[in-house]
Amino acid sequence: RLAADCHAGAVLWSRRYGKAERTLDADVKSRLVATGHAAESFNDRLLYEPWEVKPQSGDNFKVFTPFWKAATRTAPAPPMATPSLRQTTKPNLPTKLGAVSLDALGLLPRNPDWAAGLRAAWVPGEASARHALDQFVGQYLAGYAGRRDRPDLAATSSLSPHLRFGEISVRQCWQTVHRATAMDQAPESDVAKFLAELGWREFSYHLLYHQRDLATTCVQPRFESFEWLQQSPHLAAWQHGKTGYPLVDAGMRQLWQSGWMHNRVRMIAASFLVKHLLVDWRIGEAWFWDTLVDADPASNPASWQWVAGCGADAAPYFRIFNPVLQSERFDAEGNYIKRWVRELAKLDASDIHKPWEHVQAIRKTKYPEPVVDLATGRDRALAALAALPRA
Ligand code: FAD
Repeated sequence: RLAADCHAGAVLWSRRYGKAERTLDADVKSRLVATGHAAESFNDRLLYEPWEVKPQSGDNFKVFTPFWKAATRTAPAPPMATPSLRQTTKPNLPTKLGAVSLDALGLLPRNPDWAAGLRAAWVPGEASARHALDQFVGQYLAGYAGRRDRPDLAATSSLSPHLRFGEISVRQCWQTVHRATAMDQAPESDVAKFLAELGWREFSYHLLYHQRDLATTCVQPRFESFEWLQQSPHLAAWQHGKTGYPLVDAGMRQLWQSGWMHNRVRMIAASFLVKHLLVDWRIGEAWFWDTLVDADPASNPASWQWVAGCGADAAPYFRIFNPVLQSERFDAEGNYIKRWVRELAKLDASDIHKPWEHVQAIRKTKYPEPVVDLATGRDRALAALAALPRA
């Protein structure tokens, strides 16, 4: 009806690839066509359409490196310039479209206002996205490869929510980073690493396009027989950052408060849930979907499946992240932990990774005991995973 009210001859939009999005967009398209409107979608979200990158045999890639090699044989199209709407070409819109103001929709949470942390952490919009990109390229691109795994540093771009909601396009990111290389602003190894991360996003969309139910069905069918737990007495502790493992808890609290979590900590927190607690990866995926500001229909399920071992190009099932060793390695001084787990702020760097060994120091804090012994949880996961049918 809106198209008719606007006297629109055609309706054009950015293509979407999620299961629900594709169904909805196909429905809108057929209704528009049925009412005599031209309707067309375009690629605005990706560097390469998922169907453009093809292996020599089979429908799609299952491993990242050959996918990215094949994709980057062709340079992606550059971003298009902002269209200039000259006065003469301005559409003749009717003044009354029955519009409702944003405020009237009452979309913001009240009682409780759970979004205060999100507002403090993010400024949505195109200008903020552009600022994040320029700041990253100017200050953090050089050194990215070496520092991107450190959650205590602001060493990554924080572009994910902006990319998720189209506030900046991946082609703008690609072009800006290439310009920086041409001007010798960053070493080639850092640039290649950053572009490969954009590549993982592309790979996730490639997987989603070829498997619409990526959020509910394992890429490797043999994992469907695995008896993940659908309920766990420790699920709430994981969700609320009270597992007793400081790095996991810091990540889960960062997620709850800011809607974002550092990539390495996402891997560790996810691994803890699916391996040490044996909870179904789909339950973790759904929690991230509800709480991340960058919750993405491709990257979220593809990453969860990667961690659980049932995805494409997944970590081998016997690789189980040890949250204590990871913490000692990537947050050696404990600064990230101290920022999000305030109860532990007074602990020394040497004590903070295993607070349960320092009973005196944490006696007065309410920081919990570990919900599971790491060795026991690891052995249980390995035994269960080893019983899977062979690939
Ligand atoms: P940077 O390091 O600056 O990377 C630049 C961009 O590359 C990111 O903004 C993102 O668009 C893309 N990117 C980086 N790493 C990955 C990756 N591993 N997979 C796909 N794209 C990547 N990312 C999301 O955008 N949405 C999600 O819902 C999401 N869920 C995840 C769930 C789990 C369990 C894990 C382990 C990872 C998930 N990621 C997700 C990937 C990654 O953690 C985030 O993209 C990254 O932390 C965003 O921070 P950044 O923008 O500073 O990244």
